[in-house]
Amino acid sequence: MAPRSCIKCQSSKAMLKRPKTQEQVCRGCFFTLFEEEVHETIVQTKLFKPGERVAIAASGGKDSTVLAHIMTTLNARYGYGLDLFLLSIDEGIAGYRDDSLETVKRNELQYGIPLKVVSYKDLYGWTMDEIVAQIGTKNNCTFCGVFRRQALDRGAVLAGANKIATGHNADDVAETVLLNILRGDVPRLGRCANIITGEDSSLPRVKPFKYAYEKEIVLYAYYKKLDYFSTECVYAPFAARGFAREFIKDLEAARPMAIIDVIRSAEDFTFTSASEDKLPQPRTCERCGYISSQPVCKACVLLEGLNRGLPRLGVSRTRGRRGEKAGLHPDVERVATAQAVSAVKWTASGAGGSKEAQGNSNHDTVEVAAQLGSSSSVAHVPAVVVSSTGQSEGDGVCASAGGASAAGLPEEARADLGPGLAGCSAAGAADNDTVLG
Ligand code: SF4
Ligand code: ZN
Repeated sequence: MAPRSCIKCQSSKAMLKRPKTQEQVCRGCFFTLFEEEVHETIVQTKLFKPGERVAIAASGGKDSTVLAHIMTTLNARYGYGLDLFLLSIDEGIAGYRDDSLETVKRNELQYGIPLKVVSYKDLYGWTMDEIVAQIGTKNNCTFCGVFRRQALDRGAVLAGANKIATGHNADDVAETVLLNILRGDVPRLGRCANIITGEDSSLPRVKPFKYAYEKEIVLYAYYKKLDYFSTECVYAPFAARGFAREFIKDLEAARPMAIIDVIRSAEDFTFTSASEDKLPQPRTCERCGYISSQPVCKACVLLEGLNRGLPRLGVSRTRGRRGEKAGLHPDVERVATAQAVSAVKWTASGAGGSKEAQGNSNHDTVEVAAQLGSSSSVAHVPAVVVSSTGQSEGDGVCASAGGASAAGLPEEARADLGPGLAGCSAAGAADNDTVLG
């Protein structure tokens, strides 16, 4: 049988079936379609303004690497006028983050944009390895997710960014919609599919890949031979997001447009003002100045537990206890003494105020000292006013948390993706082959 030609250009041989649309296209047309769809998303949703300084949250994984590639490509092609840089978080996980940071450092050279790295050790005084040594592997991702979310904001502020772009894709957004439905979290459901969160704040987060399928991101990275890191975090098996992820993959296997439909459904929900009212009102943490729905933010509560050798503090569910004194978990209340609370003390004086904030050096670790002291010594984080109320669950969750189906991807790409993707291909076994030849 003669090979099919690409349904777009009609001249080249079709090389793959697009996971999103099932169109049979050649490689060149796939690249063009993928890039143009992201461009359309950016333009239609007015994601950026000329002159903005945009931090691309970079882990070295496939999503953020493709995001860095696409953002630099489109910025040059369409003259967005953005000042882009890579922002990485070093959680301090030996054998995982140290290796992936090497990938990001290569990306810095490959894409010609500077890299900033902020580390948990500098911000909080603890690496994830040290945290796991103290708390074990049960709640490690809770600490890591809370710390990462805040670390990204802090790093972006110190580097003088106006926006953070994350690599969250359509699968991630659909998953978050589903999780919010399962939890009955109506207020968050109303906002979790937003392409911009914290829009009214000084540091909004944007998701240029909101409508891009994970499998297409993998195919793009694979065929473009992008340099990305695919090893799973050594603590990932204990991350729990698997069910919603697998369910979304099953839906996709049965009907590829299901992912977009889940997102569109969330976009079309209408909510009463009563459900909006249930969202906690953003305020600032009285210890570190970070945005929080409570007087003391979650990171400070978790940090306090670690520093006191009581790591379970702040991990237990606090739902229904809002409004208690000082917003602390009752266990924390019991042990807290009047004079000593742990605090993150910042050496940087303000947004744009430090040498780092001027963007003078590349891939330096931001000089932030995490020290313990009395509550009076808390130095406030400069104007990080990011709405926590509309953020999706996915914003604090790393790419290593939970696997995904590799069905429909080239064999080599599956191997390339590591256990996170390749490990559960059975979940999408009904999927059609994507690679045609
Ligand atoms: Fe952190 Fe992700 Fe590893 Fe969990 S799986 S410890 S969230 S890097
Ligand atoms: Zn705080």
